[in-house]
Order: sequence, then structure tokens, then C-alpha cells
Amino acid sequence: MAPQFDLEQRIKPKVLISGAGVGGLTLALILEQAGYEYEVFERASKIKPLGAAMSFSHNVAPAMIQLGIYDEFLQISKTMESMNLFQERSQGTATQDVSNGSQPQATQVDAASGMVPLTTVHFAQMTAMTGYPIRIFPRPKFFELLLSRLPAHKIHLDKKIVDVTQNSQEDGVNGVTIHCADETTYGGDILVGADGAYSAVRRAIYKQAAADDKLPAQDLENLNLGYVTIVGTTDPLDQKVFPEVEDNACFHFRTVGENKPHTWSTFTVPDNRIAWSINAQVDSSQDPTVLRTREWGDESTDVMIDGVRTFPIPAGREGLGGKKSMGDLIDKTPRDNISKVFLEEKLFETWSYGRVVLVGDACHKLLPATGQGAVNAFEDAIILANCIYDLRSTSRTDVQSAFQEYRDQRYPHAKFQYQSSKSVAKVIQGQTWFESLWRKFTLAFFSKRFEREQNTRGLDYMPQIAFLPQVPARGTIPLLPQVPSKRFLQAQAATK
Ligand SMILES: Cc1cc2nc3c(=O)[nH]c(=O)nc-3n(C[C@H](O)[C@H](O)[C@H](O)COP(=O)(O)OP(=O)(O)OC[C@H]3O[C@@H](n4cnc5c(N)ncnc54)[C@H](O)[C@@H]3O)c2cc1C
Repeated sequence: MAPQFDLEQRIKPKVLISGAGVGGLTLALILEQAGYEYEVFERASKIKPLGAAMSFSHNVAPAMIQLGIYDEFLQISKTMESMNLFQERSQGTATQDVSNGSQPQATQVDAASGMVPLTTVHFAQMTAMTGYPIRIFPRPKFFELLLSRLPAHKIHLDKKIVDVTQNSQEDGVNGVTIHCADETTYGGDILVGADGAYSAVRRAIYKQAAADDKLPAQDLENLNLGYVTIVGTTDPLDQKVFPEVEDNACFHFRTVGENKPHTWSTFTVPDNRIAWSINAQVDSSQDPTVLRTREWGDESTDVMIDGVRTFPIPAGREGLGGKKSMGDLIDKTPRDNISKVFLEEKLFETWSYGRVVLVGDACHKLLPATGQGAVNAFEDAIILANCIYDLRSTSRTDVQSAFQEYRDQRYPHAKFQYQSSKSVAKVIQGQTWFESLWRKFTLAFFSKRFEREQNTRGLDYMPQIAFLPQVPARGTIPLLPQVPSKRFLQAQAATK
């Protein structure tokens, strides 16, 4: 018989969270609702998310309902009904137009825009199956929403974590300590590393694990650098010039550049704005360390901005609304709303060590081609909170087995999304000759299959917070069963 919980004694570990990104703040919100003791430590002096748009698939919608933030989320976001992929083509004849699911046919280049529609992936079927649409929103608005539900005194800014120490005692108070750059230290029972792709917490625990000979070699390898990207969001735009902005739905256009390593995207977001991003694929023969140094800083961002101004963009509701270029959007985007980021990827094997556990980009960095990085950080937070809720005690052994349970539940899903983002990136933004060929081949012969795959990827996974009332399924597909909370079940049985 499974060991029973002492229901009189609710185990409430003190949780330290490093990083106020989507992963850290979502976990904080769940712990806040569960009445746990937690503190968030953020290195920045101000929470200033990237000026890019972000989309959330249906996967996290039920948990947002549980957290009481979904209605507000709908107000700050738009539904993404489709993704329209274009090819920049200066002249000649395109080889296909599969937007209506028909067989490929020769299509004239749209004279006004210089664009050829390659394919359209519609998401209506996915919405019907899951009961929730994909929603797109300006990142800062989502952070405002999360922060509005968290007490400010629990979020410490200007706290850059530089090291982590753990004591080896089974039941020691303050079993884990963070050391910050300002020479302050804080102790707790659990430390959650939600500090992103270059996590200082991960670095610290990997050092400890390597010293104990418990770190797999692949965890020491660098992240793979795929693209250098600039992102931004315009100020509100004139509807006469950009009629698509006033529509309730999001127009999401992607363009594959001609004879260049670039692909670029635009998304209409609330308040008549357009969010945009431009990727330059990294030449695999280049040394990533040299490239990271060269591409860093404002000056190199300005160089990249200047170099992409003439890129034509799909515009209007069909994407063929006349000659507009990235420069038109850049001119309407405040410079401090434009950032340069490196698009990297890596799935780490080691997700915890002792009393320390990783969530989000700190343990799985995905390419954003499928818009799943933050969704997965959110899902990590849900499952980790469920496992913390089911802790039997704050002993090192029990904490470690809760972290193992968390990884067991999350790793297969994160791995699936990691592989999926890699293969979708090849089709929609790959610019090597092989990837260009692969794109032509896929869209010419498997366009419908490509759309179907986009519409069925990880559809039935909608994890919920196990100790809050469950949200019933809304769509037509059966969902993956939730792993129930053992503590919650025992408490329910005790009341009968
Ligand atoms: C261009 C682009 C578009 C994207 N689009 C989407 C999308 O549409 N949908 C989607 O789901 N995902 C998207 N993603 C991915 C998504 O942004 C990330 O997966 C997500 O933000 C990861 O969240 P996180 O909390 O794990 O890490 P982060 O957002 O990186 O947050 C980490 C936090 O930790 C702080 N920190 C770092 N080091 C320290 C330290 N030493 N001490 C204290 N604090 C520290 C950082 O300042 C930061 O606030 C996109 C990514 C990019 C680059």
C-alpha cells in the first residue's frame, strides 16, 4: 500500500525561484494561489520582456482558466486563424499555390507585392478539436497580467544569481542557498532555475553534478545556434495604410527570402499594432563563439536593421496588398522596442540536482518556429507545482523524488516539441539549399499532410493544476489523462 500523507500537516517548502520570465512568474502565480512561501529573484532592474509578439496554443488555456486569468488574456490577445507562407520572388513564375488545398499549379507572381503564396495552414480544425484557439499577444501585456496577480514584495529585482550551494543534510533548514552578485544570500528548501537558456543555476548544479561524476557528456555541449533574429512591435498603425490591423483576427504572414539567408514574419496584434521578426540563418561553417561576439550590441543591431529595410512584406488581408517593406514597419517601431536575439536550441538531459530543479528554457531551449517555448515553460510550472504539492516532507530524498516525477512527466512532451520545432523550422525558415529543396518538396507533395501535422501536434496534452477544480474538456478530442494529485485524492477520500 502506498504511504499515506499526514493531511493535518501540509508540507509547505520555501521555494526560491531564479528568473522572472514566463516559467518563473507562472510558477510564482500557482504557488501564490496554493498559499506557499516563495520568492522570485530577477537579475534585471526592471521587468522588460522582449518587444516581440508571442502566441500561446490551446495547451495552457485550461490552466489559465484555473488561475483566473483567461478572460483578461482574451482581452489582450487575438486569435490566430491561419499562418500564410509566402516566397519573395522578384520575377518569373512560381511553381505552386496550395493555399486552398488544391494540387500545385503554376501561379503568377503578384505584381504589386512581389510575393508568391506558398501555403496557408488553417487552425480552425485545431480549435474545434481542442476547444481553444491559438492566441497571439504582445509579450509585455502578458507580463503585466501575471505581475498584476503577484505581490510586488515577493519579486526581487537587481538580484543576479552567481552561485548556488547546497548542504548535504537530509533535513537541514535552508538546504539550498543562492548567492547574488550584490553579495546577498537567500536560503530555502527548493530552488527553481527559471533563468533562461544561459541559466546560472544550471551552470552551478552542472558543476556540482560533474564533480560527482553524475553529468552526461551531452549536457556540457553548447546550445546550437540556428539564426540571428531582430524583433519589434510597431506603435499603433494607420488603418487606411494597414487595413488588416483593425480585424479581430491575427494576420500571420511569413516570407521566405529570395537569394538571401533571411525569412521574416509579421503578426497583427491588439491596438492596431504589427509585431515582426526577421531571421538570418547562421552559416554552419562559422564559429558560433565568434559570431555571438560579433553580432552582440546595439551597433550590430543597427547594421542588421539597415540591411533589411527593403525586404518586401505581405500586407492587406490577403497578404497581397501592394508594395510595402520592412522599412515601413521599422519606421513605426520605437528603437528601444527592437531587440536582437539568437535563436538557439538544446534539450538538456539533467533537469535537477539535489534540491535544485530547472524549468523552461533553462532545460529545453526550442526554436520558436512552432511557438512552443513559453508554452512548455508554462507546462513545466504546472507539473512542477503539482509535484511540489504532493511532497511528503522537505527531506532531500523526498524533494529529489518529486523532481524525478516532474521530469518523468514532462521530458517526453518537451522532447517531442523540441523535435517538432526543429523539423517545422526547416520547412518554414530553413535557407540552406537542402532546406529550400525540402520546403519545395514538402509543400508540393505533402502540403495537406504538413497542415494536418501542424493541426495535430501535441493536441491532446492540456495539463492542469491538480489541486484546483478541473476544467472540463471543451473540444471534440479525448485528452491525455491528467496525473492526479495523490494528496488531493487522499484528502477527498478522507472527507467521504
Ligand atoms: C523571437 C522569439 C519568438 C518566440 N515566440 C514564441 C511564441 O510565440 N510562443 C512561445 O510559447 N514561445 C515563444 N518563444 C520562446 C519563449 O520566448 C521562451 O521559450 C520563453 O520566454 C522561456 O521562458 P523562461 O521563463 O524559461 O526564460 P526567459 O524568458 O529567458 O526568462 C528568464 C529570466 O531569468 C532572468 N535571469 C537570467 N539569468 C539570471 C540570473 N543569473 N539571476 C537572476 N535572474 C536571471 C532573465 O533576466 C529573465 O527575466 C519565442 C522566442 C523568441 C526568441
